[in-house]
Amino acid sequence: MAIERTFIAVKPDGVKRGLIGEVLKRFEMRGYKIIGLKMLQVTPEQAAAHYAEHVGKPFYDGLVKFITAAPVVAIALEGEDVVAQARRIMGATDPNKAEIGTIRADFGQAMNRNIVHGSDSVESANRELAIYFKSEELMSGAKNSFDYVIESLL
Ligand code: UDP
Ligand code: MG
Repeated sequence: MAIERTFIAVKPDGVKRGLIGEVLKRFEMRGYKIIGLKMLQVTPEQAAAHYAEHVGKPFYDGLVKFITAAPVVAIALEGEDVVAQARRIMGATDPNKAEIGTIRADFGQAMNRNIVHGSDSVESANRELAIYFKSEELMSGAKNSFDYVIESLL
């Protein structure tokens, strides 16, 4: 399977509840590489670009208000089939329907307080990564690969 990248965000509810480390741990323990990481306050422009597909839906205004209200942690992950696998680790959108053991089932409180975001396709991932990260902020590729740096130091 192909090496992919995906965009994950710990949403304001996850940050406020002290779940940044928990979310990162779940992806790291599955072996995915964190290639980008930052805390930021999402701007209305970023939120509109991120959630463009949901414009006009009943939950849209609340979603944009929520995601821009307080800091989020933006995470870029890299690994084999990581887009779909990260969605499995997160669980279904509604925490009450998510499999036990997923992030959303274990910590989510409601559909609109479900702790994490994760891209739903490779195409979405590339689009979303570009909203939150400059290309030079992603520590990947031949130039700044962790593996290369570590190997050359040992
Ligand atoms: N959402 C909501 N009510 C809904 C559907 C979605 O509050 O009825 C929120 C929820 O926080 C979700 C986000 O909008 O994570 C984006 O919705 P999407 O259908 O893309 O779900 P996801 O890809 O996050 O599982
Ligand atoms: Mg989605």
